[in-house]
Amino acid sequence: MTIGTETQATRVDTDFEVVIGLEVHSQLLTKSKMFCSCSTDYANDAPNTHVCPICMGMPGVLPVINQQAVAYTIMTALALNCTIPEYSKFDRKNYSYPDLMKGYQISQYDIPLSKDGYLVIELNEQTRKVGITRVHLEEDTARLLHHSGYSLVDINRSGTPLMEIVSEPDMRSPEEARLYMQKLREILVYLGVSSGRMEEGSLRCDANISVRPRGQEALGVKTEIKNMNSFRSVERALEYEAHRQIAMARAGETIHQETRGWVETKGITVPQRSKEQAHDYRYFPEPDLPPLLISSRWVEELRSQLPELPDARRARYHTEYGLPTLDANVLTEDKALGDYFEAAMAASHVSDRKARAKSASNWLLSEVVRLLKANAISIQASTLSPAALANLLDLLDKERITGKQAKNVLDEAFVTGELPEAIVTRNGIKPPISDTRELERIIEEVIANNAKAASDYRSGKTNALQSLVGQVMKQTRGQAKADIVQKLLKSKLDEAPSA
Ligand SMILES: [Zn+2]
Repeated sequence: MTIGTETQATRVDTDFEVVIGLEVHSQLLTKSKMFCSCSTDYANDAPNTHVCPICMGMPGVLPVINQQAVAYTIMTALALNCTIPEYSKFDRKNYSYPDLMKGYQISQYDIPLSKDGYLVIELNEQTRKVGITRVHLEEDTARLLHHSGYSLVDINRSGTPLMEIVSEPDMRSPEEARLYMQKLREILVYLGVSSGRMEEGSLRCDANISVRPRGQEALGVKTEIKNMNSFRSVERALEYEAHRQIAMARAGETIHQETRGWVETKGITVPQRSKEQAHDYRYFPEPDLPPLLISSRWVEELRSQLPELPDARRARYHTEYGLPTLDANVLTEDKALGDYFEAAMAASHVSDRKARAKSASNWLLSEVVRLLKANAISIQASTLSPAALANLLDLLDKERITGKQAKNVLDEAFVTGELPEAIVTRNGIKPPISDTRELERIIEEVIANNAKAASDYRSGKTNALQSLVGQVMKQTRGQAKADIVQKLLKSKLDEAPSA
């Protein structure tokens, strides 16, 4: 069977409808593991150094529930508009795999911590609600490191709190699945419960996908895709799988319920194992843990502590700062950049807040981001303070420096961490030449010394103007404003040449 290209797959299929639901696992940013006091900060440590009898699965030990993990899960559920039942419990999910130390995983089966929520995504300027079936809590497995002929196990990850967010099969295209995943990640990062790092595996996504003839109500047989570690791979894997299933359905072939792995390098999904049914896991209530009784008082307390979420921030950037959609989106998607922008606004004491917001956004998203990329550092690690950016904008507003000078000052402030006004003073940068008589004198001199360029311009070669502007800027050592120089030069050249 041949599989079409992505372009073919993205084309709306008129006969078949794609149905997608996502199961997202996120490690929680707690200090200790789910059921023991081992530290979760193991990323840079040697294998098997963050372990104890509990997370190694020794017999006879007793797990203790991490309260912060429960709080983070409730906060996530609330942000996803779920209801939190007063009673829930942990269950044992039995299966054997070398990465599972106890031979079972403590998870939640029939009574999860939360249920019945939704998340809103925007597509083609329309909003769509994707149902959230449940958000529950479980524990991560150990990590297997495969070598040729043998595998090693690192137990550091074993027992790390893992939150699972299960969506309804409400998505109708791989693009919607990607948008859902992006929005979900944003929310988790805003809540401070997840690092959101898909590339490191702390946020993972499994996708259930099936196809059905358009108009048919019953769902088709689904496959589950694993091993997608970026938004792009989620979308690509689903594109591939949708196309594969539609081609099979067209050919009258039977689609089997199975787990398939995404092979990033080849851009294909391959069968891994036949998908287990729930009864294969022989779930039963975890006898070593008490049921979870969640008071509505605690839920309301957590609700009151929820931070501003991405949709609210995006909307506020429109209303409060008058920012265009593009700016509002970028500053929301990257929470740290948005936080920086707000800090720069807090340090801005100007009457026209909206004009300042736009210039702060412009400088941040172009010049500051350029410097961050060039130096490969994050905005949090930068020595350039939000107050320094505000100070630079003040100097520009007061016409104390030109735009060109401002860029140079910013470059320096980025390295030294100084306030721009200190750099201006230290470097003896003079205010821009606003005296037009002084400028006119320089312009006349430049025209006289560049007779060829001047006559070229007069004979219609308008490009010649730029070299003259450059000459004047050089003479004024960047202290003149380029737009004014251009205007004065033009009017001077358009006059009859002096004899
Ligand atoms: Zn432990």
